[in-house]
Amino acid sequence: MTFPRGRRRTVDTQAHCCPAPDCSYSGRLGYGNRRATGHPHGQPWRQLQCVSCHGYFSETHGTIFHGKRSSADLIVHVIACLAEGLGIRGTARVFEIDPNTVLQWLVEAAEQLQAFSAYFLHDLHLKQVQLDELYAVLSAVRDGDVSAAEAIERLSRSPHWVWTAMDPESKLLLSAQVGERTLAMAHAVLHQIAQLVAPGCVPLFLSDGYAHYLPAIVAHFGQWVQPPRRQATGPAPKPRWMPRAALLYAQVIKTMRRRRLVEVKHRVICGTQAAVDQVLAACGWHINTSFVERLNLSLRQRVAAIGRRSATPCKSEDGLRQQLALFQVYHNFVLAHASLRQPLVVPEPTNGTGSVKEWRRRTPAMAAGLTDHVWSLREVLRFRVPPWPQPRAL
Ligand SMILES: [Zn+2]
Repeated sequence: MTFPRGRRRTVDTQAHCCPAPDCSYSGRLGYGNRRATGHPHGQPWRQLQCVSCHGYFSETHGTIFHGKRSSADLIVHVIACLAEGLGIRGTARVFEIDPNTVLQWLVEAAEQLQAFSAYFLHDLHLKQVQLDELYAVLSAVRDGDVSAAEAIERLSRSPHWVWTAMDPESKLLLSAQVGERTLAMAHAVLHQIAQLVAPGCVPLFLSDGYAHYLPAIVAHFGQWVQPPRRQATGPAPKPRWMPRAALLYAQVIKTMRRRRLVEVKHRVICGTQAAVDQVLAACGWHINTSFVERLNLSLRQRVAAIGRRSATPCKSEDGLRQQLALFQVYHNFVLAHASLRQPLVVPEPTNGTGSVKEWRRRTPAMAAGLTDHVWSLREVLRFRVPPWPQPRAL
């Protein structure tokens, strides 16, 4: 829509959509049907009008800032502290606010950020997916009084496992979920990955030796196969569910002794060794899951509930799910990753006396081609997430 009459529009409303459920432009982006109408009563936020249904809405509609009396700066700073791993109580002490307020804001932000992830992460063309699960309570292992196997046995009954899946090429965190160490959780993680990838895309899966991954992978990346008849007479053999021909899956088994890595063995479960090597060689790698382990380290640093080894272990699941949703967006869109940076064709001079800027910072989402810039947390929280999938065209 372009309008020949009236004052020229100066406010960009492209990122907004009409929230009215019965408007014919409801949830649609890019039709130019919104008009900014200034700041009513001198409020900090703009009001927008939909020229189709004439309804008014705030530019913060559907975000954490909507209807809050606290300043936007305070909310952004509180969420930033949580994203950097300070924990709910620590953050509450820093800003001298009630811990319940912090938790409330975290829950609201997490809801918005889950929609944010869903809006951006879809139809991905992935070559590899690394799967891992890490335990959220570490005190028993750290003390050295129980063996790792015994600790895992003990912890397997607790629900504090964080399941992660990432694309090692772009470092995009595809899934971070908390749950028990069970087949059902393996299915939940693989189900999420199956929803994210483009139709027909079958990535190479790498995991540790955990037995429940294989049925979950085959369940989501398999197909019915009709076996050929062996005899001319009698009923035809029943179709069987088999892994797709393109499916590759390898396990990396590490032997640790006194917390030192002594041996890395790998086992190709689906596909051939040559095919696995070919996918990895395209990136110049040998078989490994070290990238996920680097991710686990930053998870521990940034998600207070999984937390530091010295601090009190997490006792309840309060906020862990929400902190993971926050971590996922923070990792994918906000944090520039050192290994992803690109050399600038023309080095940019800095304003001061410092040396020239030679690198372009990149986030995993930029490496995966989902966005073109490094997002700030404020920008993420202000983003009004349009519905995904978008409503059909008019
Ligand atoms: Zn409307």
